[in-house]
Amino acid sequence: PFCLLGDLSVAIERTFSIVKPDAVAKNVIGEIYSRFEKNGLKIVASKMVRLSQEKAEGFYAEHKERPFFPALVEFMTSGPVCVQVLEGEGAILKNRELMGATNPKEAAAGTIRADFASSIDANAVHGSDAPESAAREIAYFFAEEEICAR
Ligand code: GDP
Ligand code: MG
Repeated sequence: PFCLLGDLSVAIERTFSIVKPDAVAKNVIGEIYSRFEKNGLKIVASKMVRLSQEKAEGFYAEHKERPFFPALVEFMTSGPVCVQVLEGEGAILKNRELMGATNPKEAAAGTIRADFASSIDANAVHGSDAPESAAREIAYFFAEEEICAR
């Protein structure tokens, strides 16, 4: 987990990910998990949940004042989601690269959002954007004993 002197390896990190209701409905959970696994990210915790309004609002609290907030919460509670913790070298940035841009129209070819998202609302996946948000989001969904070191 630590970068030794003369070692160019990137730190092992954990990040938080959601397969959103649109991707669950499209039956592409496995294809999305495959993207993670093929790119060096290990799934160390995973479960399917249906978010309550309160849980979704708390998760996206940083966006509370944005005009799209009510639509975002409505969408995230519209069906089950899969929540997972991904672990690997530079996991936070790597996952964001695999996801692609927030708006699927701007997402690079071959990214999860380019391949599976249909709109900026129904954009297939969530991924933490920084170490602080990763820690907060992991703890928001998982107890320490639900995360399996491997
Ligand atoms: P992310 O980190 O790439 O997921 O993007 P943000 O953290 O900026 O926004 C959270 C989520 O809110 C996005 O994944 C979108 O589903 C939604 N969202 C963000 N910006 C917009 C917007 O301008 N319009 C709408 N309708 N939804 C948005
Ligand atoms: Mg974000």
